[in-house]
Amino acid sequence: MTTEESRTENPAQAAGLENLSTELRRFPPDAEFSAQANAHAELYPWASADPERFWAEQARDLITWHEPFTEVLDWSNAPVARWFADGSLNACYNAVDRHVEAGNGDRVAIAFEGEPGDTRSITYADLQREVSRAANALGALGITTGDRVAVYLPMIPEAVIALLACARIGAPHSVVFGGFSAEALRSRIADAEAKLVITADGGYRRGAPAALKPAVDEALAKGPTTVEHVLVVRRTGQDVAWTDDRDVWWHDVVDTASDQHTPVWVEAEHPLFILYTSGTTGKPKGIFHTTGGYLTQVAFTHLNVFDLKAATDVYWCTADVGWVTGHSYVVYGPLVNGATQVIYEGTPDTPGRDRWWSIVEKYRVSILYTAPTAIRTCMKWGEEYPAGHDLSSLRVLGSVGESINPEAWIWYRRVIGADRTPIVDTWWQTETGAIMISPLPGATTLKPGSAQVPLPGISADVVDDEAHPVPDGGGGYLVLTRPWPAMLRGIWGDPQRFKDTYWSRFPGLYFAGDGAKKDDDGDIWLLGRVDDVMNVSGHRLSTTEIESALVSHPSVAEAAVVGAADETTGQIVVAFVILRGGIEQTEQTVEELRAHVAKEIGAIAKPRRILVVQELPKTRSGKIMRRLLRDVAEHRAVGDATTLADSSVMTLIAAGLDKPVGAAAD
Ligand code: ATP
Ligand code: MG
Repeated sequence: MTTEESRTENPAQAAGLENLSTELRRFPPDAEFSAQANAHAELYPWASADPERFWAEQARDLITWHEPFTEVLDWSNAPVARWFADGSLNACYNAVDRHVEAGNGDRVAIAFEGEPGDTRSITYADLQREVSRAANALGALGITTGDRVAVYLPMIPEAVIALLACARIGAPHSVVFGGFSAEALRSRIADAEAKLVITADGGYRRGAPAALKPAVDEALAKGPTTVEHVLVVRRTGQDVAWTDDRDVWWHDVVDTASDQHTPVWVEAEHPLFILYTSGTTGKPKGIFHTTGGYLTQVAFTHLNVFDLKAATDVYWCTADVGWVTGHSYVVYGPLVNGATQVIYEGTPDTPGRDRWWSIVEKYRVSILYTAPTAIRTCMKWGEEYPAGHDLSSLRVLGSVGESINPEAWIWYRRVIGADRTPIVDTWWQTETGAIMISPLPGATTLKPGSAQVPLPGISADVVDDEAHPVPDGGGGYLVLTRPWPAMLRGIWGDPQRFKDTYWSRFPGLYFAGDGAKKDDDGDIWLLGRVDDVMNVSGHRLSTTEIESALVSHPSVAEAAVVGAADETTGQIVVAFVILRGGIEQTEQTVEELRAHVAKEIGAIAKPRRILVVQELPKTRSGKIMRRLLRDVAEHRAVGDATTLADSSVMTLIAAGLDKPVGAAAD
């Protein structure tokens, strides 16, 4: 196959060739970051020479310990790591109180904008009072250290306050995304045996109040008996059903509680939270994280990957608190670092498609962290929406959740980043707790589409079936070769599944489940989930590469590619594409797209069938659920679609498949 050859970079060629494939373009660090360049570059060699000493130093520099640690890593009970185990601390104290004690109580911690346009500005001193009240209220409701608390809230300040209040008393939180159904909520409450559920009457979405409490009522009616109370925030003023001995209003018990509270000091390995993975590939797993190592790595990565200047930056991560990105890069990372951040409740197109850009302009956001799915959506809507706003405050842009197609990367930098800002493509997982692979602004020459290099102190590699590292230019499985501070400590209640899922494929190595390749410089490119990799006539093809090739065609807004079983070739490539506005769906467009993939990657990757669709099935966090598309392509009943954002999408797609458009003979 010619894939690798055609991608081999010739730097002389890469410079200045406008029609060069976007994947081959390079963006050297901007002069603005030159001061950090050396400092960042120096981190790598010393971190790799002695990662434990490196992390110990980060833990001492970035975190305030109640009882300092003397042990760094205990890996004797692998794969369950213990980091900084004899130290004690409190996550909420680190995120809030210590900033007030340091004289920064007046700094805005959260600039909240509700979807209807209501705003709240919460300083660190305000936050300290709020979390203290909430912690006292939780105590009064019988919650003590070690009890689990389920949180089912919209993206409002109370979500952050609730998590911090739990952390303050050492009660692990288990957040369930507000868009999930009653059944998803029930199974997660039951699995974690939560004693309390914190929810709201509802939240604002797409210009209207959306209810939340009814789902809690329904979930609890079906079973979990561990729940003693439901604590309800009034957000929308909707009518809610009430169970007298069980339900309490936030404003009755939190707002009236004392604003003085002493944090509970916990051991570094005390569980901080459980978070169920999104279920993109199967039954959700209760990933659990502990306190000291997790906080160290989220603080380090948030500070360095985004080049944070806490006193002057305005940071905005668009993730919901229901995802790990919301935990690590809305709640813990920014607050532990004393940053000022924007939190926005609603959807990007309410009331208009420029809502995000009006927020960037209004708050002078300087660091923006979002997902490729959002960027592709903005591309589809058109440049006029960002163009109507002053985005000149932006200086670092981030991406997370999926590979960012080079085309989308270039658009993000050009249209949002004024062709100037670095883009950090951050690879990590719920399981890793914090960013693992990413460029560092100033230190890394950026390559659109590649997450590039493991961060200082992180050891990742790409291995073949026999666990041998592949040479530069080769592809295989992404693994993590050393324990890291924010690593998951297990799957809640299921130690065997923890070992089987992550540690049995390659003994001694953490198997991430993602395919990857190393380019000729040794930089890492994510190729999609291993479960999604296709095998066509003995050639392994990556979903990410074919999708990026399709998205690089001017007619295509989004693409999803799957392999469907085929008697002759093993699998055939089936592509689902969304066309850009104004592009007509004809036999000719489809033929052009097939030819385009052949040109970009090679004839072997040419989709046998291309289906033009209006929407793609996505999880609530915006990731494409390829296994459902595979069911459609193989004419099977569609599997478990409970985590789908919009379940009607699958019916539409299945109906579309019966039409002959796009089926080809070769
Ligand atoms: P589940 O594990 O339940 O199927 P999930 O993997 O989608 O759900 P997350 O932990 O939120 O849940 O996502 C992590 C995954 O997202 C990674 O394993 C990878 O497949 C993908 N991912 C995240 N960031 C990137 C990135 N920058 N580039 C490529 N892929 C990414
Ligand atoms: Mg996963």
